[in-house]
Amino acid sequence: MTGHTPAPHAQARICPNCHGFATAAITSGLGRDHRGHLRTITVDCPACHGHGTTPLSAAQLTGGRA
Ligand SMILES: [Zn+2]
Repeated sequence: MTGHTPAPHAQARICPNCHGFATAAITSGLGRDHRGHLRTITVDCPACHGHGTTPLSAAQLTGGRA
């Protein structure tokens, strides 16, 4: 894995798993805190890890010609 490698034409598409809504706040069921705020937990999309986009794979980049 190369990790964070800058690419001159970095392309990304909206994550098909969350459609760009990568982070969701979910009520924890623990009621409200001492200030009356609803307790929530934040969950990132497991497919894009909260980015909302997924990088195009090398196959998609190179195999675009028909
Ligand atoms: Zn996602």
